[in-house]
Amino acid sequence: METIARGVDARVRGDRIVEAWFGGYREPFKTPAARQAKGLEGRVILGVHRTGKHIVWELSTAEVQALAGGSGQPDAQWIVHLGMTGRLLVTTPDGPVADHTHARLRLKSGREIRFVDPRRFGRLELRDLRRTAGFAGAGKEPLTVGAEEFAGVFRGRKLAIKAALLNQSLLTGVGNIYADESLFRARIRPRRRAGRLTRAELERLRLGLREVLEHAIRLGGSSVSDYVDADGVRGFFQLEHCVYLRTGLPCRQCATPIRRILVAGRGTHFCPQCQR
Ligand SMILES: [Zn+2]
Repeated sequence: METIARGVDARVRGDRIVEAWFGGYREPFKTPAARQAKGLEGRVILGVHRTGKHIVWELSTAEVQALAGGSGQPDAQWIVHLGMTGRLLVTTPDGPVADHTHARLRLKSGREIRFVDPRRFGRLELRDLRRTAGFAGAGKEPLTVGAEEFAGVFRGRKLAIKAALLNQSLLTGVGNIYADESLFRARIRPRRRAGRLTRAELERLRLGLREVLEHAIRLGGSSVSDYVDADGVRGFFQLEHCVYLRTGLPCRQCATPIRRILVAGRGTHFCPQCQR
């Protein structure tokens, strides 16, 4: 499930929902289909993360520019409970439509999100956060979290900083790419214990993470190239990665070969010279 949320997040973060279509069955909709469509259309996707058995889309009516400026708080959530047989697909509008497709969201980038569920055990819900409480359990929003709050997230944590960055109950929507790239910018080794990082290191990390995410959002908003591969790793800013998927290639700062290790089961890339 985590993989699904991350894969989707990497491809839709910063995108805008242009049009929403829902099928005729009643079961999959906790919020009436017409109201979901009306609430989804026009909203910007701030991030996608997993909370329990749900994939939660944080949405905002604010412009992406406002988000990059730091004022982008979600004002709605689209909550997808996959049930036993539900699937979320990222595709293009002309891709063949599978049987049992109950929802299609067309995005500004040209991508299309589809919810497919043969047995209709899954559920779709739209929450207006101006009127209803948000789905519990979500972590801090990395684009807007302040220095004090960010440091507090990692205080006393014994797990590796890379694992902590990926933990959606601490920070929402930090995918594998963003974690590796932000650790490089902050010059921190991925296996360092989160709770042992100095305040200065944490601040470098907070700013590095924001920089990486804002960059991805900017490029995502203007990119028309699509990458519908299931792995969800071929992102729009692949060409500019410093470490991610650059194993053995020279570091862009110091020419030392980039190394790959596993942290929390995830491929992790870093420069052994620049990161300490
Ligand atoms: Zn280096």
